[in-house]
Amino acid sequence: AAEEGFDVEDVEGAIEEAGHGPLPVLAVIGRPNVGKSTLVNRIIGRREAVVEDRPGVTRDRVTYEAEWSGRRFKLVDTGGWEQDVLGIDASVAAQAEYAIEAADAVVFVVDATVGATDTDTAVVRLLRKAGKPVVLCANKVDGPSGEADATALWALGLGEPHPVSALHGRGTGDMLDAVLDALPEAPAQTFGTAIGGPRRIALIGRPNVGKSSLLNKVANEDRVVVNELAGTTRDPVDELIELGGITWKFVDTAGIRKRVHLQQGADYYASLRTAAAVEKAEVAVILIDSSESISVQDQRIVTMAVEAGRAIVVAYNKWDTLDEERRYYLEREIETELAQVAWAPRVNVSATTGRHMEKLVPAIETALAGWETRVPTGRLNAFLGEIVASHPHPVRGGKQPRILFGTQAGTKPPRFVFFASGFIEAGYRRFLERRLREEFGFEGTPIHVSVRVRE
Ligand code: GDP
Ligand code: GDP
Repeated sequence: AAEEGFDVEDVEGAIEEAGHGPLPVLAVIGRPNVGKSTLVNRIIGRREAVVEDRPGVTRDRVTYEAEWSGRRFKLVDTGGWEQDVLGIDASVAAQAEYAIEAADAVVFVVDATVGATDTDTAVVRLLRKAGKPVVLCANKVDGPSGEADATALWALGLGEPHPVSALHGRGTGDMLDAVLDALPEAPAQTFGTAIGGPRRIALIGRPNVGKSSLLNKVANEDRVVVNELAGTTRDPVDELIELGGITWKFVDTAGIRKRVHLQQGADYYASLRTAAAVEKAEVAVILIDSSESISVQDQRIVTMAVEAGRAIVVAYNKWDTLDEERRYYLEREIETELAQVAWAPRVNVSATTGRHMEKLVPAIETALAGWETRVPTGRLNAFLGEIVASHPHPVRGGKQPRILFGTQAGTKPPRFVFFASGFIEAGYRRFLERRLREEFGFEGTPIHVSVRVRE
């Protein structure tokens, strides 16, 4: 029952772990200063979601991978914003709306020492409308004397308040158990009921790259089939648009069309919106303004889509504005700044003139095909055998670690697990990934390779 020194059980376990499907999404929402970021830090067990006393700190990172009791999920932190020109109710509502929309379950954090405020009550109404599972976190219950404050939150009508001290960790375990009960195994809206329905596209990119123009262009030239109304606003959230004879679902279009001009925290809203759209989509069409230098913000958006494991198309918009010189520099910038998505299909478009719009659909189809590719185990191992023979891993400490065998554990995006006789260095892993792409394509998709080493 052993294959080159691995237990069958080990191998099966590794394949199952590596091949996990998309993770369910948990959003942490609530008023400013109730302790959302502190709670997120506690759950992910790191200091990544930095808690800042300084107001107005914008963060671009809003989703994290977390694990509790052996179950993995994504965590959306909505702590990185503050009250703005819209006033507190409107900003809490906007933030909660985006987060709830993207989530499979919600942790609603209330400061138990303050009690339920009118804003909290307004959020409860949003939560009711959305109908997502909710766990009520009564935070800042640092000791037994605070329990009564937590009990008072039954009045919100969201069921049992879980008394928690995010700061000290008190009660967080019990609360997380309740979260796991509420959280579906797989994200329903992304991969559950939607299977077989129209493919879901997120059109993303930093402000002013032309998302709204492109959406209008594609929606006008062809036909907007249906508008689905959001529960809480009258803006269409997801629009069905026919392109190239196929109906596609453009997700979160309200986020594109809605022009809420926020003086503060606008970047943060944009990130949250992007994360929400990416979570709901299968393929991300990333718009880059080719008339301007590729920025750190562009790179962050690309990273977000790559890390979320979505199929990716990069569309260079405003192509009508380019002269020879800018074109030259753009190509150099793409090589250096966007190397992380060198494998993504590329289209050079103009939302203004309609240039190359017809190339969008083939690019999207290519990316989705790469994303769904499954390599038969026999072919994969023949390929691995050849690689190991022609390009062996460098000898380390008198030993030569070898890839013994491998399998594709999952798709959407492709995930591989390789079994090795010793530690495989990062450089060799990158080499393997590169060769995998050369051999099997994977155009438009991130791929994951994990390596298990024989004990
Ligand atoms: P956010 O705006 O909701 O993300 O809130 P933060 O996580 O930034 O926390 C706001 C303040 O409340 C910070 O000063 C935290 O240290 C404090 N805080 C958060 N959780 C607790 C808690 O459980 N007990 C106490 N006493 N303070 C907390
Ligand atoms: P969004 O913020 O990403 O939705 O960007 P918008 O669609 O609002 O576009 C920002 C600005 O860029 C507007 O003034 C558009 O008219 C302009 N724009 C968008 N696409 C193009 C394009 O392909 N060519 C040119 N020249 N301008 C464009």
